[in-house]
Amino acid sequence: MARLVMKFGGTSVANMERIRNVAQHVRREVEAGHQVAVVVSAMAGKTNELVGWVNEGSKLYDPREYDAVVASGEQVTSGLLAIVLQDMGISARSWQGWQIPLLTSDAHGSARIAGIDGKNLDEGFKRGEVAVIAGFQGIHAETGRLTTLGRGGSDTSAVAIAAAIGAERCDIYTDVDGVYTTDPRIVPKAKRLEKVAFEEMLEMASLGAKVLQVRSVELAMVHKVRTYVRSSFDDPANPTPGTLICDEEEIMEQQIVTGIAYSKDEAQITLRRVADKPGVAAAIFVPLAEANINVDMIIQVTSDNTTTTDITFTVPTADFERAKTILEGRKAEIAYGALEGARDLVKVSAIGIGMRSHAGVAARAFKAFAEKGINIRAITTSEIKFSLLIDAAYTELAVRTLHSLYGLDAA
Ligand code: ADP
Ligand code: ASP
Ligand code: MG
Repeated sequence: MARLVMKFGGTSVANMERIRNVAQHVRREVEAGHQVAVVVSAMAGKTNELVGWVNEGSKLYDPREYDAVVASGEQVTSGLLAIVLQDMGISARSWQGWQIPLLTSDAHGSARIAGIDGKNLDEGFKRGEVAVIAGFQGIHAETGRLTTLGRGGSDTSAVAIAAAIGAERCDIYTDVDGVYTTDPRIVPKAKRLEKVAFEEMLEMASLGAKVLQVRSVELAMVHKVRTYVRSSFDDPANPTPGTLICDEEEIMEQQIVTGIAYSKDEAQITLRRVADKPGVAAAIFVPLAEANINVDMIIQVTSDNTTTTDITFTVPTADFERAKTILEGRKAEIAYGALEGARDLVKVSAIGIGMRSHAGVAARAFKAFAEKGINIRAITTSEIKFSLLIDAAYTELAVRTLHSLYGLDAA
């Protein structure tokens, strides 16, 4: 009997009516003869509320207790969906991460999956039960403490479970009917993609398209899990297939640019008049790395006077103050003239495997931004994407400009 994982995000389980609707989707697959594992998120907004309470409790909270609190949202929805399925006459039971067990590292708040023992779930399937699994949570084997997989982590739970139980498919149900050329909430002309290559989806997710958590795409790629993004708002009796995330060989018609993503979570730091000599970059970036601060774009500008240089780089907004404090504490050592920072920035990116074989793709964007009066603060490029850092006020204009420029607008 073929196995299937069905994952439902927060909006899809936001209230009892929606949970009943989810149960109808599950019923369809059970009646089609599948052994089904369902992975659920917390109700929409719940995790944010829980995180808010933790922050109210203490600014320097114990991360193990953070996980104890935020993992609870998924406990509620997994139990509720099991109850509703049973009420419909479908045999079902809930599974918390620790009961499976879904083992993780001890990096509380963003733990990585270390392994999943599918034995208990197998037993449940043999009993003819639907497994309703609390997403987002696991357990650290040595300490026995609850862990969570980082925001959006239920996607990763779902793909990892699909790999562990040998599911033929992992369906990620959400509030849009697939992966679009860009966030359809910003660009109404965004088009749904039939298929997206793993590499492109990985870039889109890491560059801000939160429709899938980055790690879920990594796992799908490594374990070759056939993963679809589809809508829970479709008629359960007549659903649409959504978007398949797959190998690039499966995609017949390759565009140069497949999608546009944006990330609002960017802050910029500039160190003025840094000595232009070996060892300076290490003096700046090693302490930041040791503090687990992810530095993204880096630009070094040397002026005519070659004894000093300006170094500009970006960090996630959440780490901005910490990064500033670390660098201010090392002002004498690094020997810079001044530290300047800017917060309200956004990184807009264009992604596409076709960029590998086409020159001048980014240059067209520079020209288009110039015509719209959008100033570019930093640029990074790689084989299949480029990213431009701009003022957040221009986000929508920039995303729409790139979307039209690369021919992605729906007719
Ligand atoms: P869930 O709660 O189901 O996990 P999320 O809010 O995490 O849902 O992800 C779905 C949202 O991702 C959509 O509502 C959409 O606004 C956003 N999104 C961003 N970029 C894209 C994209 N390229 N395609 C589809 N959705 C996108
Ligand atoms: N509820 C968690 C979050 O909001 C996990 C998820 O929804 O995927 O981040
Ligand atoms: Mg999500």
